[in-house]
Amino acid sequence: MLNSPPKRETIKVCIRVRPLLSHEDIEYWDVDEVNSTISSLNLSDPSNQSLQNNFMSKALMDSIYTSQSFHFDKIYGQSSSSQTIYKEMCRDITKNVLTGINGSIFTYGQTTSGKTFTMLGNPKNPGVLPCVLKDMFDLIEKDTNNNYRVFCSYIEIYNENIHDLLTDANSLKLIDDNKYGVIVVGAKRVQIKNFEDGIKLKDFGEENRKYRDTLINEYSSRSHTIFQIFVESSQMDPDTNSITSRNSILNMVDLAGSEKLHETESQSGETGYINKSLFVLANVINKLAEGKKMHIPYRDSKLTRLLSMALGGNSLITVICNVSPSANNFFQTLSTLRFASRAKVVKLRPNVNEYYDEREMIEMYRNEIRKLQNEIGSGENEEEDSKINKKEVGSQEEEEKDYKMRYYN
Ligand code: ADP
Ligand code: MG
Repeated sequence: MLNSPPKRETIKVCIRVRPLLSHEDIEYWDVDEVNSTISSLNLSDPSNQSLQNNFMSKALMDSIYTSQSFHFDKIYGQSSSSQTIYKEMCRDITKNVLTGINGSIFTYGQTTSGKTFTMLGNPKNPGVLPCVLKDMFDLIEKDTNNNYRVFCSYIEIYNENIHDLLTDANSLKLIDDNKYGVIVVGAKRVQIKNFEDGIKLKDFGEENRKYRDTLINEYSSRSHTIFQIFVESSQMDPDTNSITSRNSILNMVDLAGSEKLHETESQSGETGYINKSLFVLANVINKLAEGKKMHIPYRDSKLTRLLSMALGGNSLITVICNVSPSANNFFQTLSTLRFASRAKVVKLRPNVNEYYDEREMIEMYRNEIRKLQNEIGSGENEEEDSKINKKEVGSQEEEEKDYKMRYYN
């Protein structure tokens, strides 16, 4: 049965405000979860005047004197949980990925705003990624109509260099792929059969990432990590006996710290590259938000090229923007809220990635013949089976060629 694309028309954006950290003392943003509004305090209000003395810089003081207010799909306050954010902002993506529709979940924000806490979390407060894996396999288990195969990759982009967190392979290239848009050549793809397999894979990649973090200064705040889930499913139409296959990809992207975007530091070398990736992403979002027909510079950075199909609209997208409530981070929080305001108007056109699958059909007929052979206990169908086998060998060869082209060229 064909699925129709879901109703979501634009990127879903929410804000998550983390609690103050131990070294932060002034809370400067007021969250109204009921009306999904976040506003900076109004210093001209007499009840807030005692705060004025606490601000060191006059520039900061002047710019924050007027209250800034933003409205989003959802704003999550300090006591919110990642599970709630998952249920309300991302669960529909998991469901749709299982029906052949691509999905992407981003965490955006300055360093220490809570991006990784939201994406990965910890065993006590699981992040969005474990929630996706748990929900996905629960849904697969309940679905008796489709056969699923799930594969994962875990990569990161640091200094415009793509690194495989599952194998340590470095300097990986991107190529166009007819199924998934753009893929990373040589990134290991591991089949996972349950939630535990997925968590083990994530933990393996994390160890690798943490190790690199100890080698390079500010590494984790400057790299983008991308956990990709590839879902293949097939279903037989009982009326026509034909098999339809679907494939989709779910990108979970923990972005580099956005503060580098706003600093007026040198555009060369390492920092320049980090800026480049995030600058291009912001630029792409700005252009998409304008909604006019124009050149979109996906190819200007590794991150945007890899995600070009998703950003181009063939994906459901949720962006979780993480912010600090602290007065010290006022400008960073403000710029994240502005980025979020632009992102929320970007239009989406998700498609069901579906095709008639000849290989699956051959496999099914082959199994059917085997079953019949077993039933009648004779070799009558051997000839027919060998024909199918020859055909299958052919398709295996084709598959291998296709694989080699995709991964090693
Ligand atoms: P980022 O990945 O954006 O640099 P982290 O996720 O590492 O930031 O968060 C920075 C610190 O704040 C960590 O110690 C993390 O545990 C804590 N933190 C972030 N968000 C929350 C939250 N919502 N609740 C409790 N602690 C949080
Ligand atoms: Mg982080």
